[in-house]
Amino acid sequence: MREEFSRGRRYPEPRHPYRSEFARDRDRIIHARAFRRLEAKTQVFTTRYSDHFRNRLTHTLEVTQIARTVSTALGLNSELAEALALVHDIGHPPFGHAGERKLDQLMRAHGAGFNHNLHALRIVEQFEHRYLEFTGLNLTFEVREGIIKHSRDYDASSFPQLAEYLLDLRPPLESQLIDWVDEIAYNTADLDDAREAELLDLGLLSAAVPLFGDAYDRVNRAYPAAKKKLKFSEALKNVLNALASDLIETTAARAGEASVATVDEIRRHPQRLAGLSEPIAAQNARLKQFLVKHIYTHPFITEDRDHSVSCLERLFHLFLGKRDSMPPDHEQQALTVPRHVVVCDYIAGMTDQFLLKQYRDHFAAPPETSSWHG
Ligand code: MG
Repeated sequence: MREEFSRGRRYPEPRHPYRSEFARDRDRIIHARAFRRLEAKTQVFTTRYSDHFRNRLTHTLEVTQIARTVSTALGLNSELAEALALVHDIGHPPFGHAGERKLDQLMRAHGAGFNHNLHALRIVEQFEHRYLEFTGLNLTFEVREGIIKHSRDYDASSFPQLAEYLLDLRPPLESQLIDWVDEIAYNTADLDDAREAELLDLGLLSAAVPLFGDAYDRVNRAYPAAKKKLKFSEALKNVLNALASDLIETTAARAGEASVATVDEIRRHPQRLAGLSEPIAAQNARLKQFLVKHIYTHPFITEDRDHSVSCLERLFHLFLGKRDSMPPDHEQQALTVPRHVVVCDYIAGMTDQFLLKQYRDHFAAPPETSSWHG
């Protein structure tokens, strides 16, 4: 995607003397308030046990690093890829996917729903207030399109509000890459954090995921006396490298076979072209299954998560039912916008810690969880 083919910004702006349009978008995202809040949102592991775990901000930086490498190796626009990676999780509510599922469920009772990609678009279009001449960040079309389309397709009949985003066409390769890069980043990082949390059984992992097991055996043969932690890191680095390299090679090969040379041809191609080869996709799937079976469902993760999500739910009902329970600007908004929408936006914008503090302020901690916050 070359910037001279960009469909531009909603509100036209003069060019910057020395930054490209996509570089400006990247910089606007980094300076956004919602971006800073990622620091206090859980990725998988809460900070209850260690400060070394990833949070959604450090996860985002890791995704960005891989996106830059992959997009550069493929000769794509790495500034666009970087902007898309930096913004890809900006719409996440507190408590990760569990928080998203709960908000969605709560909103369904009102005939609506919640989805972090759609929420991200509203953040960059409406909720960020930094500029005199427009609300939102006034990002280029391609970055807004990528926010919507980086992980899935939306059909125009169910999402009429997204009609401008060329829903019958594929997004540029820079955007197609993001979902894969995200997965490569979290599959490997979650193993690393699981090892830090001492939840990881290396023998079980090696047996379940030969891509890891073979890498670990190679490292073990070369450095039999090395510390287990370093052998693990080296093997994990090999896995990340194998996944990223395969993404680069497979995407390049598919683009070659499809003989697409321009962003328009990529858009019009019937399938997305970015992806992993079949054998590596199978290994990646096994890695994901391992994480679901042994890590994401471990009480170490689920206890904190279930407690937090129940706090979110109680706050939602409180804000919904009680006038003047939200800050004045939100209460003001609720005079013209359905109250459940305002409540959902208010909660979705909270960091984990802010939500838990709101919970403490509004509800006395029940006896069985009174020691939970330390
Ligand atoms: Mg992510």
